[in-house]
Amino acid sequence: MMKSNYHTHTERCLHATGTDEEYVLSAIKGGYQVLGFSDHTPWKYHTDYVADMRMLPDELPGYVESLRALRDKYAGQIDIKIGLECEYFPEYIHWLKEQIKEFRLDYILFGNHFYHTDEKFPYFGHHTDNRDMLDLYEESAIEGMESGLFCCLAHPDLFMRSYPQFDRHCALISRHICRTAARLHIPLEYNIGYVAYNEAHGLSTYPTPEFWKIAANEGCTAIIGLDAHDNRDLEDPTYYNRAVQEVKALKINVTDTLPMNRY
Ligand SMILES: [Zn+2]
Ligand SMILES: [Zn+2]
Repeated sequence: MMKSNYHTHTERCLHATGTDEEYVLSAIKGGYQVLGFSDHTPWKYHTDYVADMRMLPDELPGYVESLRALRDKYAGQIDIKIGLECEYFPEYIHWLKEQIKEFRLDYILFGNHFYHTDEKFPYFGHHTDNRDMLDLYEESAIEGMESGLFCCLAHPDLFMRSYPQFDRHCALISRHICRTAARLHIPLEYNIGYVAYNEAHGLSTYPTPEFWKIAANEGCTAIIGLDAHDNRDLEDPTYYNRAVQEVKALKINVTDTLPMNRY
């Protein structure tokens, strides 16, 4: 299997460290052949809301320009892809599609972080501690996948960051999400961005073994993603290598490649 990572953030999201070039250098050092940047997308809100975890719309041109320059500079050493991690916000998706076309973005990861818009709804990762939020998570995940915009569902088990225990409701929504992903041939990301944190704090959030058993059972395809928020994450092989063993043990289909947009 080729070593690839399509889930990389930059300092523009305000909660990541390392310059764009440091991420590239660390990825080369870590033996990656493909490095996809997928920083949190900006949104052009209809209100004066300002999110604290994403770049502003006017930072998008600089993001693309910087990554294009690095793609050229390191061509032959590593294959750099330019994408974004986006929610499914029906009201704003038209604007996003225009940006994707204008900047000829290679791909869009589906980060199902909020229902409909973060102006009104809280972060699924912190607030999915009841069945209503679980249902919204499912609805948003399925609607987003059906939109056709996304090449991969990032951290599909994100709800387990706040839901107390994987119960029968979790099993039900997981089955629906996985079944949709399999039907639409959308890979699910085996996200290891929190493994180090979980270990340090004695937590188990995601990857959630119960979710992944369902995913394997439904015939889904998995892709390992680092969700790198620190360039040094790309240099440490510990969690990546462990994830390779874990997906192997699940007997789930695994891919190292996401399909890119064509223009
Ligand atoms: Zn995310
Ligand atoms: Zn991310």
